[in-house]
Amino acid sequence: MSVFTNALSQLKKASTYINLPSRVQEILKKPERVLQFSIPITMDNGSTRVFDGYRVQYSSARGPYKGGLRYHPKVNLDEVKALAFWMAIKCAVVGIPLGGGKGGIAVDPKVLSQGELERLTRAFTRRLVPFIGPEQDVLAPDVNTNPEVMGWLVDEYSKVTGRFVPAVATGKPLALGGSQGRTAATGQGGLFILNELVGKLKLDPKKTRIIVQGFGNVGYYFAKLAHKAGYKIIGLSDSKGGIYSNGGAGMDPDHIMQDKKARGIIAGCYCVGSVCDCENYRSMTNKQILEAPTDILVLAAMENQITRENAGRIKAKAIIEMANGPTTPEADIKLAKRGVIVVPDVLANAGGVTTSYFEMVQNLQQYYWTEAEVMQKLKPIMGQAFKQVWQKAEALKVDLRIAAFVLALERIAEAIEVRGKY
Ligand code: GLU
Repeated sequence: MSVFTNALSQLKKASTYINLPSRVQEILKKPERVLQFSIPITMDNGSTRVFDGYRVQYSSARGPYKGGLRYHPKVNLDEVKALAFWMAIKCAVVGIPLGGGKGGIAVDPKVLSQGELERLTRAFTRRLVPFIGPEQDVLAPDVNTNPEVMGWLVDEYSKVTGRFVPAVATGKPLALGGSQGRTAATGQGGLFILNELVGKLKLDPKKTRIIVQGFGNVGYYFAKLAHKAGYKIIGLSDSKGGIYSNGGAGMDPDHIMQDKKARGIIAGCYCVGSVCDCENYRSMTNKQILEAPTDILVLAAMENQITRENAGRIKAKAIIEMANGPTTPEADIKLAKRGVIVVPDVLANAGGVTTSYFEMVQNLQQYYWTEAEVMQKLKPIMGQAFKQVWQKAEALKVDLRIAAFVLALERIAEAIEVRGKY
């Protein structure tokens, strides 16, 4: 399934609700620049492997390209184009002065040694040097990349260019100019959105049951913070499997994390230290957990999880998309018909890139904020974006995704228009 085709169909659908000048629509159908590299790496055993690396610079209408770098065996140009487009929309939804970009390398980082991974990151960075930088394109972590990878990237870029340029990437280690709060920021932003949604739906947080699909950086922090805020986490899964609470009693995501570290998987029993409850909890596959009874389903894994095939069986009242592109356009239609509210990725997971923007600001002014200051700035941005999208959805009688796209497209179109025509 082409993810970029899905992204373009979202663009087309949203465009019908606004007077988007046709030239703007034409411009937004294609990325501004596509970079593709073959990257030969000498592996630890002396052999050579050649990896495919991509960077798509989709739109710079509202500011420098901004977006993550993904390491995954399934990375391909189609996917990176879609993800880059969504970044442009996302930055516009939350109103930060950045465009959209995304990068990726087709690699399974879990089978590479640390040395191989560092060499690959540095080799990719060297090829990107002419095209990236604080005023051109700023990278960040995404699936299977982390502060450590950003540290190598900043170091390589700085060595090659001969000056320290921390703002070429965000999500860095604190020692290299990272921002307080960035690691948990996507999850934290998701919690702000959850609180807004629960308010609109008049649900009681203490009684609200949540399933989280995906237990990487985003899923883990979302689940942890939601649990801390009093919500009931009744299901959790990672790529290998999941756990579900039969009776609806919640679980502490940190216990699941400890267990996952010890056993290598999320197993069907709920263990606190050495005491395990295998009666009230059970194993579920990733596929099953999507369809299990819950109030809110949080998608924090990969694209194309809710499709035409399973959309009819989703039992949640609302879906929060913490991953990028987890719901296909066909599924959107089915879910809307059934009254399932979908809080779209370009709003729900924008806390990550918003805090990345804060990180760039701190780097450029060489003055750093406390975690409390970061959160104090993040909360109103997420809250306002949620309210604006919600209002737009009510005014146009559309779902939240179309509303978010309409809001973003108006902002992007304005930037394109005021740049002039010739
Ligand atoms: N990879 C994250 C996303 O998809 C963060 C991007 C960033 O911080 O630039 O939104």
